[in-house]
Amino acid sequence: MTVVPTIGVLALQGDVVDHMRALEAAGARAVPVRRESELDAVEGLVIPGGESTTMSKLLQIFDLFEPVRKRLDAGLPVFGSCAGMIMLADEVLDGRADQRSFGAIPMTVRRNAFGRQVDSFETEIGIDGIEGEPFRAVFIRAPWVERVGAGVQVLARVPAGAADSGAGAGEEQGGRIVAVRAGACLATSFHPEVTPDARVHEYFVGMVRGADAGPVE
Ligand code: GLN
Repeated sequence: MTVVPTIGVLALQGDVVDHMRALEAAGARAVPVRRESELDAVEGLVIPGGESTTMSKLLQIFDLFEPVRKRLDAGLPVFGSCAGMIMLADEVLDGRADQRSFGAIPMTVRRNAFGRQVDSFETEIGIDGIEGEPFRAVFIRAPWVERVGAGVQVLARVPAGAADSGAGAGEEQGGRIVAVRAGACLATSFHPEVTPDARVHEYFVGMVRGADAGPVE
């Protein structure tokens, strides 16, 4: 078991620096990943928020799409936030026709789902597996999860009304799904890297320590 695991942040686009800071605060060594050799060296990967259509395009331009997909298939622990959640889904609604995702988690994610009511909002939520105070979750043009497949654990929902008065925000069985885990994959609709609370990153660092995926030799 690696005590201080090396965790990469996919650094083609998006919210890279904040994730690196949060990972370091959570006890990991954080490195940016822009090429395959850097990917090979990590024991876990964060796919940050940003814009999933652009990220999908850049992954292909930088010849990183297939290498990342292969590592995920081989069980590399991964945490996707917001656009990163979209990148992990096996079905994306309201996406662009040419947008690709890794299909690492059997789930249907709707892009900009809350955005039809309100672009950004913050709310306190409980997250299964995270002890203590509720977590202040920041949503920015966020997706939500509309379907989870077998083996996907729902970790958090946004309670009805939290995304303002918009119809449908929290109607489904106690709210919209905004955090899931499936094996070594974690995904959140919100951005834990923009708050000083490192508990979601600590949870992920714990997943990486437990998985002990090791770098590619
Ligand atoms: N709406 C963006 C997308 O579709 C995600 C927004 C974000 O990551 N903050 O990729």
